[in-house]
Amino acid sequence: MTRPAVRDDLVALEGYHSPQLDVDVRLNTNESPLPPPPEFVAELREAVGDIRWNRYPDRAATALRKGLAERHGVDPGQVFVANGSNEVLQTVLLTFAGAGRRVLTFEPTYAMHSQIARTSGATVVSRDRLADFSLDASGVLSAMEVADPAVTFLCSPNNPTGMAEPADLIAEVLDHGRGLLVVDEAYGEFAERSAVDLLGEEVPLVVTRTYSKVWSMAAMRLGYMIGPRWLVAELDKVVLPYHLDALKQRAGMLALGHAADMESRVAELVESRRSLVSALSGLDVEVWPSQANFVLFRPRRLPGRDVWQGLVDRSVLVRDCSSWPRLENCLRVTVGSRPENERFLSSLEEVLAP
Ligand SMILES: *Cc1c(COP(=O)(O)O)cnc(C)c1O
Repeated sequence: MTRPAVRDDLVALEGYHSPQLDVDVRLNTNESPLPPPPEFVAELREAVGDIRWNRYPDRAATALRKGLAERHGVDPGQVFVANGSNEVLQTVLLTFAGAGRRVLTFEPTYAMHSQIARTSGATVVSRDRLADFSLDASGVLSAMEVADPAVTFLCSPNNPTGMAEPADLIAEVLDHGRGLLVVDEAYGEFAERSAVDLLGEEVPLVVTRTYSKVWSMAAMRLGYMIGPRWLVAELDKVVLPYHLDALKQRAGMLALGHAADMESRVAELVESRRSLVSALSGLDVEVWPSQANFVLFRPRRLPGRDVWQGLVDRSVLVRDCSSWPRLENCLRVTVGSRPENERFLSSLEEVLAP
């Protein structure tokens, strides 16, 4: 038998790599170091008994969309929910990108934007951010002019740099750009600003959020987006029927009842991020300002890969970004619990010691 051939346009695809090593301190995937409150887990346990397990779930996830819409002050028809925001992005790309269309990204940014665009069949056009990793509206608009993208991604705060896009930049891009603009706000609650205020029925904008980071629910795989009602109706035609199981819909709802806990966990992490940035600034590394729950840094003297390995040898895992576009020697560390941050800092100090 000969093996069936993978699609020609996917042969060179590399897949998503983030090593899952067995270490004491895991600061590589931007998860929350804290679990959701015990009351949430107790409520979820009870919810298991209420579910009619022989029946398909509510296909429209009505209650969850309503709950999310209330949280953001929008209409439930503007909300689309899926298994992680990656599935939200995939559904958007299947609906608006695909073969013969182009998707525009600005590097360095979240690798899954171009990865999912490629699996949708679209052609990815990547432009570089400025030297300090920011963007200027005129650069974004001229890239749009040339590429004529069906979908353009911005990520705010941007993974892996941690920087948020100014609202006036996003507004200008919406006014003068073309195609659909997706603003990935996976870390939105950690930041001082959001593009949610710019949404409108005739504005070609969607904003994505996730339960994976701020809600301490990475294990659940739940994400959502807010956008125009007409656009959500198109996504509903494309996504698989019953894609969101009943327990997950309940979990998403129950979590919203603990928003205050979530916000206090976020506030604590923002505080820890400040301490982490200030401690890093005292070491022999370059540090970028962050509005997220992670910090990008670059050792000045040693190769990034060696520093990463030195940390792994001390049972501390951070993200090695040193082979990513524009990020030579860079590492990204997630803000962990206080003891985890201290262990990371003392290990890093040892590794960097001359
Ligand atoms: C972590 C992350 C996501 C989250 O994806 P989920 O599928 O919701 O876990 C999305 N976008 C960015 C930029 C991220 O860093």
